[in-house]
Amino acid sequence: MTHRILILGGTTEARQLAGKLAARADCLVTLSLAGRTESPVAQGVPVRTGGFGGADGLAAHLRETGIDLLIDATHPYAAQISANAAQAARVAGVPVLALRRPGWEPVEGDRWTQVDTTGDAVQALGPAPRQVFLALGRQEVAAFEAAPQHHYLIRSVDPVEPKLAVPDATYLLARGPFRETEERALLEKHRIDALVSKNSGGEATYGKIAAARALGIEVVMVRRPALPDVPSAETVEALAAIVNQFGVDHFL
Ligand code: NAP
Repeated sequence: MTHRILILGGTTEARQLAGKLAARADCLVTLSLAGRTESPVAQGVPVRTGGFGGADGLAAHLRETGIDLLIDATHPYAAQISANAAQAARVAGVPVLALRRPGWEPVEGDRWTQVDTTGDAVQALGPAPRQVFLALGRQEVAAFEAAPQHHYLIRSVDPVEPKLAVPDATYLLARGPFRETEERALLEKHRIDALVSKNSGGEATYGKIAAARALGIEVVMVRRPALPDVPSAETVEALAAIVNQFGVDHFL
């Protein structure tokens, strides 16, 4: 018997998990992407792209495509789709598991200012002009137009369009992972004195946090949003093990 698994993705872990589960002879895996990135990396399994139309749309999709197991492997800041996944699974009577990568914790030497939103991060930078590295998605950087006195270094996977309405911004296109040594060189080259980051967790983007610590640079850390309480694992391996150990039948 073949089991249909839908993985809500947009993260490296979702792609890795899809590869692992697709290797099982009894699983048909589809990966779902929001379609935000213009040229996403190859995912290695069948992909569907675009929103479902809220929780109801996702519930209808689960029923129509006969999904047996839904896995929410979206980014920790993608709170809407995670809420939709939990609700749609309930409505459609489909089991759901989540891959929840743990956040970073501050360690000795870190200079973190923790805030709840990007709007709060703008305030936390203060009134005096600073050299700020925005390591945020292109959707979030617009909030910094409210503080045009700073110089911004803005790194994103796709170009930020329209450009920020601030007099002094440098744009950098790059896709992680980013190593600490390279991040340190970047912070030094641009004489950065504040870094604004999400608490993404994981290794791939931790380099900038370690580099900021080494250079004594303040990190304005936007806290994670609240996510629904569904059965979850912290790593790709742990989540794949749950599916392998119990089999998809267990969740039906
Ligand atoms: P979001 O605010 O939680 O989602 C907004 C809407 O986008 C959802 O309601 C849904 O539309 C659609 N959507 C999101 N993820 C989807 C998916 N995997 N498949 C199909 N539709 C999806 O999410 P977001 O912050 O815009 O992030 C979008 C995607 O980028 C996510 O898949 C996430 O994993 C990835 N990502 C996000 C971040 C981040 O910092 N937020 C960073 C890296 C990657 P409908 O309601 O119409 O279904």
